[in-house]
Amino acid sequence: MIKLKNISKKYGDFDAVKNIDLKINKGEVFGFLGPNGAGKTTTLKMITGVLKSTSGDILINDIDINKKPIEAKKQFGFVPDSPDIFLKLTGIEYLNFIADIYNVSKEDREKRIEELSNKFEIKAALNDKIQSYSHGMRQKIVIIGVLLHKPPLWILDEPMTGLDPKSAHILKNMMREHVDEGNTVLFSTHVLEVAEKICDRVAIINKGEILFCGNLKEMKMQFQEDSSLEKMF
Ligand code: ATP
Repeated sequence: MIKLKNISKKYGDFDAVKNIDLKINKGEVFGFLGPNGAGKTTTLKMITGVLKSTSGDILINDIDINKKPIEAKKQFGFVPDSPDIFLKLTGIEYLNFIADIYNVSKEDREKRIEELSNKFEIKAALNDKIQSYSHGMRQKIVIIGVLLHKPPLWILDEPMTGLDPKSAHILKNMMREHVDEGNTVLFSTHVLEVAEKICDRVAIINKGEILFCGNLKEMKMQFQEDSSLEKMF
């Protein structure tokens, strides 16, 4: 579903991401794991076309995000780490705006907004301006916006951060269900336990380099001999 071929990102002279090769398969929850400043956000921003890579190729469902961004962007929904959304809109105006962009029918959008806003307990605030929302509420409204148009691939940057435990639990279950229906989830986290609970496979990034990629059993085997994993998180 996602292929990263030797991608790198430089900020000036600083190498934030160095020669990453990764494949994320259809039908898996893939965790992108690393401590603060490791390069997770930079990588997800390159995958989603928010940032241009300095070098390398990024394919989403075999579509090059840099060559055919509009087509590639139809394949996924992206929840950034700090939701930069239309603060002057109300929650419901924002969701309708997203539904318009993705041509979600009136009937479908009403049903989904009702269901998801109840689930994430934000229904009562839908008529309030987003600028009055807390970080967690902004996170929820962006998540609902992504779920609204049912993209096959979800890309979520630190999605649990700022969410209350109940909403985080709901989101984890939804990630699993999405994948069980044959779809794909890529998400980043700096919390090892979160990754251990829901991922089929993980990649560990540190200082811009991939240290490991594999399933959880393989990860434990690789790191059981030393304590570098515990030290990192
Ligand atoms: P966190 O979990 O703290 O969000 P991260 O793993 O997402 O961290 P990135 O945000 O990708 O890490 O940052 C990787 C490195 O690149 C860090 O050293 C960061 O300071 C640096 N960096 C990020 N954005 C910029 C920028 N616009 N200009 C210069 N350096 C940057």
